[in-house]
Amino acid sequence: MCKFISVLALLALSLGLNARALAQNEELAAQNPDFRTLQPTWFQAAEPFRVIGDLHFVGVQGLAIYFIPTPDGHILIDGGTPQNAPLIIQSIRDLGYDPREIKILLNTHAHFDHSGGLAAMKEMSGAELIASEGDRSALESGYYLGYEDVPWLSAPPVIVDKVIADEETVTLGDVTLTAHMTPGHTRGCTSWSLTVEEAGQPYEVLIFCSATVALNRLEAPPQYEGINADYRYTFEKVGNWVPDVFLANHPGFFGMKEKRARQVDGDALAFVDETEFPVFIDRMEEWFDAALAKQRAALDQSD
Ligand SMILES: [Zn+2]
Repeated sequence: MCKFISVLALLALSLGLNARALAQNEELAAQNPDFRTLQPTWFQAAEPFRVIGDLHFVGVQGLAIYFIPTPDGHILIDGGTPQNAPLIIQSIRDLGYDPREIKILLNTHAHFDHSGGLAAMKEMSGAELIASEGDRSALESGYYLGYEDVPWLSAPPVIVDKVIADEETVTLGDVTLTAHMTPGHTRGCTSWSLTVEEAGQPYEVLIFCSATVALNRLEAPPQYEGINADYRYTFEKVGNWVPDVFLANHPGFFGMKEKRARQVDGDALAFVDETEFPVFIDRMEEWFDAALAKQRAALDQSD
C-alpha cells in the first residue's frame, strides 16, 4: 500500500501537484489504511474517453468525473477521492488537454469520494470552485456533514469561490450548465444538466448527484436537520425528468462499462436512452423507503 502511495506521489510531483497537497492526501489515506481494500475501484485508473458531444469521462474505475474543454478554458465536475488528482490530471493530458487550463470546478456533492481531489485540482489550476450553499460548509471544513468525528471520511478543505442556487447557470466558452438542487444524499447535493451536440443533433444530458442513503442516518439524530424532507423533495422534483442521456458520479449507476463497449463498437449514441433515468429514480425511492423502515425498526428495537 505504501508503495502504491509513493508511486502516486512521484506521478503527482511530475504533474506539478505541490508537496503540501500531497502530504495532506497521504496523511488522510494513512488514517484509514483499509479504505483502498474496501473500495479498490475508487483508486484504480480508468481510460478517459469522450462520452457525447464535448463531455469527457476522466474518472477512475469506480468514480465518474467529467471534463468539458472550451476555447476559453475547461470545466471539471468532481474531484474524486483525495488521492485521485494525479490520475485525473493524467487522464486530461491523455485526452490532449492542459489541466492547468481548467477555469471552473464544479461538484455533485461534498463527500470525500467526489470532492476529495478538488483542493489539489484547484491548487494546480487556480480554477474557481462553484458549489451550493448547502454543501459549502462541508467543502470548506473538509468534514463529512454529520460525521465530523470520523477522520477517514474527511477531505482536504477547499474554499467555495461562488455559491450557486437552484436553476442558476454556469457558462464558460460555448458551454452552459444548469445547477439543480437535489438534496438528501447531502444537504447541497447538486445535479447538473447541459445540452450537447452529437452528429448535428442536440441531446439533453443530466449528471445526477445521487439519492442513495449510503452512510446517512435518517433518524435520531438525523445526518442533518431536514434530511428526510429533502429526499422526498428530490424524488418529487425529479420524478418526471426524462433526460436523453443519464449520467451520475458512479459508473455503475448508469451502466457505463456496457455503454462504452457499445460506443467502441461504433454506436455513437450508446449513452442516449431516455427511458433510463425514470427507472433509476423509482429504484432510488424504493431503496430510500426500505432504508428508512430498516433504520426505524433498529431504533424501535434499541428502545
Ligand atoms: Zn456520497
